[in-house]
Amino acid sequence: MQTEKECYVCGSTYGLEEHHVIYGTANRKLSEKYGLKVWLCHAHHTGSAGVHFNRDLDMQLKKYAQECFELKYGANMSFREVFGKNYKEE
Ligand SMILES: [Zn+2]
Ligand SMILES: [Zn+2]
Repeated sequence: MQTEKECYVCGSTYGLEEHHVIYGTANRKLSEKYGLKVWLCHAHHTGSAGVHFNRDLDMQLKKYAQECFELKYGANMSFREVFGKNYKEE
């Protein structure tokens, strides 16, 4: 989902952590399989303004992940069937 190894939100390259955009037990594995991961600095990952505590940012990332998925795999499979959700409708 990214071309540079930097925080998706602020562009920091310090203290990066890998975030599985569609998380939860089964979906984390699917995120890994389909490459739906981004780099985030600690503050934007598990900090108080981070994606795990900020629903707007979480949804923004999930919609973007769905777009990436559909660009790459959309001709062959449906995001909704794989992940059980359609974030574009929310
Ligand atoms: Zn950041
Ligand atoms: Zn995370």
